[in-house]
Amino acid sequence: MFGQEIGIDLGTATVLIYVKGKGIVLREPSVVAIEKSTKKVVYVGNLAEKMIGRTPSNIETIRPLKDGVISNYEATAKMLKFLLRKVCGKTIFKPRVMVCIPSTISEVEDRAVREAAYEAGAKFVELIEEPRAAAMGAGIDIKKPMGSMIVDVGGGTTDVAVISFGSIVKAKSIKVAGDKFDEAIIKYIRKTYNILIGEPTAEEVKIKIGCLVPFDTAIEMDIKGRNLDTGLPMVVVVNSDDIYHALKEPISEIIDAIHIMLSDTPPELVGDISENGIVLTGGGALIYGFAELISDKIGIPVVVAKDPIECVVKGTGIAMQNREIS
Ligand code: ADP
Ligand code: MG
Repeated sequence: MFGQEIGIDLGTATVLIYVKGKGIVLREPSVVAIEKSTKKVVYVGNLAEKMIGRTPSNIETIRPLKDGVISNYEATAKMLKFLLRKVCGKTIFKPRVMVCIPSTISEVEDRAVREAAYEAGAKFVELIEEPRAAAMGAGIDIKKPMGSMIVDVGGGTTDVAVISFGSIVKAKSIKVAGDKFDEAIIKYIRKTYNILIGEPTAEEVKIKIGCLVPFDTAIEMDIKGRNLDTGLPMVVVVNSDDIYHALKEPISEIIDAIHIMLSDTPPELVGDISENGIVLTGGGALIYGFAELISDKIGIPVVVAKDPIECVVKGTGIAMQNREIS
């Protein structure tokens, strides 16, 4: 076969691309900058993300995926085309592509992903359910007759799934993940310090000092925002305890979802899960204390997978490899 074999994790926050034989070759934010009058894509990924909140009036930045599915078809297809070209170069051979999709996706959404991938230049498209890919990428041998639970905390959604014998037994998706954490931080800082901060600042705060279990010694950070009384710029010092309080509400919704999933899972599988532990994947899993908090609340071991943002796309690599073996 002349075309490359490519795995794509088309996330709400991040797109990752895996090339068979090479590994992960691309990781960029799922953002495109579009010229309003011509609808032409001017920037994609890292460059487009830098423009958020700073665009000139003739350009808009959009995130073409929302809650794990395509919300702007044209922009998604253009983004994919740009990224595939970046990866494949100027070859005339079209790639064979495996794209990850949420397990709770509708038929229409499923078709949209396939069509966007064909439009972006794929010769052949197959889809793989994200929780299966995430589990494989986290190092779980999913074919075993052993239940495992994957909790993938992404940008728009948290997906909780139970897998056994290589298939998804149960899956649930809630719209509480990284973006909701950012919103909760914006809300808390507005209420506590009377200043308004933007989403990129909230995300930076979350990544730098966010915690779900308080640090032994609180960490501080200066943040810039707009004073809501004067309308003028202002700097305040926030600390990790602030963020701990800010994140309490969204995180409790994730814990509830895990709880409900466990109480709905057959007892044998719950036994396996409590023995092997719940595995956390996705960028949201990187917040300090995530595993410890869930383990505390649910009473079973929890681990964060190695390189959690990369698990899903690594799983596509393993699935492509296994396709050849089986
Ligand atoms: P998706 O699969 O939806 O594209 P990702 O798995 O890439 O999402 O996760 C993106 C989310 O992870 C974003 O909300 C981002 O802010 C968050 N994130 C990334 N790195 C970290 C970190 N070190 N600490 C906390 N959150 C992080
Ligand atoms: Mg994801």
